[in-house]
Amino acid sequence: MIGNWVHKALCGKPEHENVNFFPDTGELGGPGYVNAVRKSQAICLECPVRVECAVYAVRANERIGVWGATTPTERHRLHHARNLSLDVERFHLTLKKSA
Ligand code: SF4
Repeated sequence: MIGNWVHKALCGKPEHENVNFFPDTGELGGPGYVNAVRKSQAICLECPVRVECAVYAVRANERIGVWGATTPTERHRLHHARNLSLDVERFHLTLKKSA
C-alpha cells in the first residue's frame, strides 16, 4: 500500500504532467525510453519523497515505470539489499554525480 508520502510527490504536480514516468518497456534501451527515464529521474532527484517512493516500489515489486529515480532493472538489483533505504540513498547520490 502506498503511504502518505504520495501527497508530496513531485510527479503529481501539474508542471510535470507531460513527463512520462512509465516509458514503454518494449523500447527498453532505445532513445525514447532512455530520454523518458532521464527526464523522470531528474524530477525524482528533486522530489522530497524519493527514498520512500523507491523503497515502496522495490518492496511492492513494481515492474514498470520510474519510481524514486529507479528503473525496473535498478529495483531488481536493490531487491536483496540489507538496508534498502541506505542503498537507495547511495544510488541517488551516484545518479546525482553522474548527472
Ligand atoms: S520520487 Fe519520482 S516517482 Fe516518486 S513520488 Fe517523487 S517524483 Fe514521483
